[in-house]
Amino acid sequence: MEEPNMIVTVGQNADSKWVEQELTARGLWFDRFERGGRVQLAIAPHSRQVDRDELLHIRGVETVVERVSLHPLVDAQPAVVRVGDVEVGAGRPAAIIAGPCSVESEAQIASLARVLARMGVRFLRGGAFKPRSSPYAFQGHGREALMWMRRAANEQGMKVVTEAMSAEEAVLVTELADMVQIGSRNMHNSALLKAVAKQRRPVLLKRGMAATIEEWLSAAEYALLHGAPSVIFCERGIRSFDPSTRNMLDIGAVALLAHVHRQPVLVDPSHAAGRRDLILSLSKAAIAAGASGLMIETHEDPGHAMSDGPQALLPEDLARVLEEVDHVGR
Ligand code: PEP
Ligand code: MN
Repeated sequence: MEEPNMIVTVGQNADSKWVEQELTARGLWFDRFERGGRVQLAIAPHSRQVDRDELLHIRGVETVVERVSLHPLVDAQPAVVRVGDVEVGAGRPAAIIAGPCSVESEAQIASLARVLARMGVRFLRGGAFKPRSSPYAFQGHGREALMWMRRAANEQGMKVVTEAMSAEEAVLVTELADMVQIGSRNMHNSALLKAVAKQRRPVLLKRGMAATIEEWLSAAEYALLHGAPSVIFCERGIRSFDPSTRNMLDIGAVALLAHVHRQPVLVDPSHAAGRRDLILSLSKAAIAAGASGLMIETHEDPGHAMSDGPQALLPEDLARVLEEVDHVGR
């Protein structure tokens, strides 16, 4: 059995059947043990979350021991966090992060920022340092790209979200970004997490492409422990056996993070799908599952994009996605 969430011990002369019924009625799964004449009910980790006090009030329950969490700071993080003056999380308007995969030129990012701001997009994304799978692929314009993006965002009153790939870049990136992205290839890089966290900016933590949810939560714990004011999770698809889509969007993980762990979680349908014709459907699914926002790659001329063109939306297509997700209940 996996490590249980809680262990309920029933009093010596109490009616354990009653306690079991009460747990079942609350949607909890458990294994039953008898130790030293006591019945213990070990609640399975995939059970519904329940308050310890609630269980203590069940007639016959003597003690309830909670599992010590490996990520207490994440558990204590509020469901709504702030990036500057923008709130992200449950019950807030969907946070939209849009922009190109890579910042390609000053003119490109300035023009796109103008169009996105007019659509009400608050966060401008764009890679300056690009984590490419191939060393021969375009690696990003680096520092210059950061400056272009900062200027474009300032002109439009937008916030900048961009990735830091190494501890050495952390200071530079955090000086120019409002939220620092940790990419999928770097989720396990604790040195990078610490370096970014030290700069005290909100972190957008993408899920490693083969990371379990507990590993993802622990990566967030690193960031919070080392000074990040908040961590927003971003599901971007995991590796599967099937290459038909670029990655497999794990909607279950989104629901789990949003509704069980009560964390702010966004979805990046672009890197999940790898193709623009699926972005609308995946975006709607994401919001329905409890995502607090979306990160969507957008480009004014996707056919000539320097990276990830096939998944980039035209601004007018993004407008349609935003309009449709507006009607999806969370
Ligand atoms: C990105 O968002 O620019 C990116 C490279 O995504 P990921 O780290 O999810 O592959
Ligand atoms: Mn990309």
